[in-house]
Amino acid sequence: MHIHEYQAKAVLADYGVAVPRGHVAYTAKEAEEAAKTLGGKLWVVKAQIHAGGRGKAGGVKLARSLDEVREYAKAMIGMTLVTPQTGPEGKEVKRVYIEEGSDIAEELYLSAVVDRATSRIAFMGSSEGGMDIEEVAHKSPEKIVTTTIEPAAGLQGFNIRQLAYGMGIKKELHNAFGKMVQSLYNAFIDTDASQLEINPLVITKQDTIITLDAKFNFDDNALYRQKRVLDLRDEDEEDPLERRAKKFDLSYIKMDGNIGCMVNGAGLAMATMDIIKLYGGSPANFLDVGGGANKEKVTEAFKLILSDSNVEGILVNIFGGIMRCDVIAEGIVAAAREVSLDVPLVVRLEGTNVDLGKQILAKSGLPIKAADNLDDAAEKIVNSVKRKAA
Ligand code: GDP
Ligand code: MG
Repeated sequence: MHIHEYQAKAVLADYGVAVPRGHVAYTAKEAEEAAKTLGGKLWVVKAQIHAGGRGKAGGVKLARSLDEVREYAKAMIGMTLVTPQTGPEGKEVKRVYIEEGSDIAEELYLSAVVDRATSRIAFMGSSEGGMDIEEVAHKSPEKIVTTTIEPAAGLQGFNIRQLAYGMGIKKELHNAFGKMVQSLYNAFIDTDASQLEINPLVITKQDTIITLDAKFNFDDNALYRQKRVLDLRDEDEEDPLERRAKKFDLSYIKMDGNIGCMVNGAGLAMATMDIIKLYGGSPANFLDVGGGANKEKVTEAFKLILSDSNVEGILVNIFGGIMRCDVIAEGIVAAAREVSLDVPLVVRLEGTNVDLGKQILAKSGLPIKAADNLDDAAEKIVNSVKRKAA
């Protein structure tokens, strides 16, 4: 799960991380008032969307008067920001963050991730902050330093020194930097985070270290014990279809192809997508209905697939182990009737009560094509969609 920058900063501030003062605003008027409350002569108006790269897209503006704060906020709220991280459709800005401006001397990069290769938390730092870190990794990988934390021992002095030297932080600031890294680490552990990225981490002209931007992601599987994090969820930022799927306990991920897939089991779902590709088609989604799907769940899954307007055909691939094929078949028939299905549907069933399941499909009178195996199923759906397009 992702949260907004201003929320991430509030969490980090509670752990003792230095962040600029700021207030969130939903209207231009609120933005101006926030700036007035903050005082000073320089403010930053920052679009709050669940994506980075806002600066270059016009989502981060420095304002030198209250009028400018209001004008920038007015322009930003309601605009659709397109950044390299939003996808081409962009994201609508619904709130802005008004921060006191900082005197930047240096922009550095610091992040923490769960490194799957070592099963450890790793910190990555670089002197090249503020910009696209992927580009730094590509062009000058030697400018990125990585240090891995041994979980039993926790963050150690040498981890901090590795980062500090690797990032070219001057001696006088090592102490403050060390404290910040420790606070970031504590926040990361306590919140079951999966990623924390500070880009830029800033050294100010007054020689302080502050977190100027923060991207904080959390492990979805730990949310049950992270009430505070869960309270920060902004459903507006999430894909509406994926949100609906979550409600019905379906694992659904939208893709950009045109063949909708309904499968049980994540592995089978992936194999199904692969084989669609192999036969020259393109999957519209990943959808795992899970082991204990009933008629209602299957119906919901169908509706979900069909609410994606790109879908031109559906492939159902179910292995009935715990789940019985006849139950699935009933669900499919009920769902197809309820949504008055108007795209080709290929069904491959295998497992418990498969013959009964096939009978139910055949007797339904619906134009369902039965498939004998995965190859047959993929070939049939890809051809049906092609024929429809032709
Ligand atoms: P991102 O583009 O979405 O990653 O947004 P950031 O929060 O990283 O801001 C982009 C850039 O705006 C930063 O790298 C800074 O160069 C600049 N910026 C942000 N806040 C301030 C500030 O308080 N003062 C100054 N001078 N520049 C800032
Ligand atoms: Mg940034």
